[in-house]
Amino acid sequence: MRSDATLSRRSFLKSAAGFATAAAGVGADDKTAPLQTRGVVLMPSDLSLKDWPERAKAAGINTIGLHWTRKLNALCDFVAGDDGAHFLARCKELGIAVEYELHAMGDLLPRELFQKDPALFRMDDKGQRTADTNCCPHSPAALDLIAEKAAGYARRLPPTTHRYFFWPDDGGQWCRCPKCTDLAASDQALLVENHILRALRRHDARATLSHISYAHTLLAPQQVKPESGVFLEFAPIDRDYTKPITDRDAKIQSRPRYAHPETNAGYLDVLEANMKLFGVEHTQVLEYWLDVSRFSRWKRPAVKLPWNAGICRADIAAYRALGVRHITTFAVYMDADYVKFHGDPQPVLLEYGAALNPS
Ligand SMILES: [Zn+2]
Repeated sequence: MRSDATLSRRSFLKSAAGFATAAAGVGADDKTAPLQTRGVVLMPSDLSLKDWPERAKAAGINTIGLHWTRKLNALCDFVAGDDGAHFLARCKELGIAVEYELHAMGDLLPRELFQKDPALFRMDDKGQRTADTNCCPHSPAALDLIAEKAAGYARRLPPTTHRYFFWPDDGGQWCRCPKCTDLAASDQALLVENHILRALRRHDARATLSHISYAHTLLAPQQVKPESGVFLEFAPIDRDYTKPITDRDAKIQSRPRYAHPETNAGYLDVLEANMKLFGVEHTQVLEYWLDVSRFSRWKRPAVKLPWNAGICRADIAAYRALGVRHITTFAVYMDADYVKFHGDPQPVLLEYGAALNPS
């Protein structure tokens, strides 16, 4: 029943081994070098703050990710429109990289295909196929459809870094069909990502693809190996932001519906376990230090950001000690309204930038 997964593991092992070994060596040797990625991740609506590229440049931030969840065509329309073109042009002039960090699976496998072929979609705990989230990674037809769709969006949303981010559905469950049931969500996601990467590379030979350690895919995959070019992205959304990530007494207060560590330092352990599989060099931390939307529980009106430069600096030091060279943070809701109600966030951005670039 599990022959597909076993075969996949064998074929992935060969290419993954070299990538991971080389990556571990580079990162481990150079923990004091400047960070390669110093980023913020925004929604297009945050560009109501018109001078985001200039603000980022002044703070030493070199990468802006645009974030989107489902209905990717709307993001494509924004990028192709006047406001999107202006944003991309300013980033180019200022030497700021642009990427697209997307909860994409709902679009990569169109939900309307359920009527035609339910086997493309995941099975729930009751044994019913459902089109609610993600897919069945043991459906070859689903993998091909997903990969080709991703390649299509890759052409419409080309990152300047060749780093692609086609994440699973936000908080979405994975498949419990007889072929998938012994694979954890992280393993199932990685099966899909390995397939997507191959399709991306047919169009962009330098393509790499994120595997996000977050929610159901937080824990390290146990059975599937990453193909060379799939990199780790660690997003510890439920950690305690009043304490550093190294704190072993900082209990996780919320009760997420997925397996998660009990303390902040437990998240760091999860990161390390993932890095053992994915390697150090390309690992990216995606934090929430500047994410006004998170601290507002994703509801407007936005609260004032509970910014703590000391915790941010301590966290960055901990990540750097592990060899991480790519660090970014959501900064969603840091927009024109934020300035109006809470004042100019530029001093915070400058402190964040200084934490990424310690002198
Ligand atoms: Zn399945």
